[in-house]
Amino acid sequence: MTKKLFWEDPYLTECSAKAIEINGKKTKLNQTIFYAFSGGQQSDKGTIGGITVINAVKKGDREDIIDIEYGLEKEPDFDVGDEVIVKIDKQRRSRLRRLHSAAHIFYYFFIEKFGKQKIIGSNISEKKARVDFLFDHSLTDKLFALEKDINNFLKEGHEIITKPDSKKPDLRWWHCENWKMPCGGTHVKNTKEIGKIKLKRKNIGKGKERIEIYLGD
Ligand SMILES: [Zn+2]
Repeated sequence: MTKKLFWEDPYLTECSAKAIEINGKKTKLNQTIFYAFSGGQQSDKGTIGGITVINAVKKGDREDIIDIEYGLEKEPDFDVGDEVIVKIDKQRRSRLRRLHSAAHIFYYFFIEKFGKQKIIGSNISEKKARVDFLFDHSLTDKLFALEKDINNFLKEGHEIITKPDSKKPDLRWWHCENWKMPCGGTHVKNTKEIGKIKLKRKNIGKGKERIEIYLGD
């Protein structure tokens, strides 16, 4: 099982690790800061042993024991057992952290106002977060008030905590005030770090709504 340092410290942007498997251009590490696409959050970008990582994929048939396999740009010049330096794009991680936390907070503000709706998709990229859900009304004229309420909440500086499940080490929980949901993403420690957000609505078909969340800076 790959030890996930991005959970213990989602602010780390460099670490050393040991290569535990090499298969052509693919490698696995004993520990990592490099997030692999999961729960709608896109993978980090960066290098392992100075080689650009092309993709990061979760491996394993049990949800609570997960390895991460990295596809490299070229066959590595390091061997199994060697220490390598893992580096990730700091700016990208910072934006992913802020947007992922913002997406959760948006969700709770939304359901408190409009009731629980079925989520049919979500994605967190460096540029924006989006949440798709089944909803019969247009949110256009409600967005401004929602955005204002969320921004006031963010500014107040609420603590965000992520921690492992007591039974399954690779299952994580996200907490903020009274809200709690399972999530293995990388998050900020305080809502203040998110800054201001902007909400946009997209029409993606009858009975469906897409809300996009952008960072204010
Ligand atoms: Zn999440």
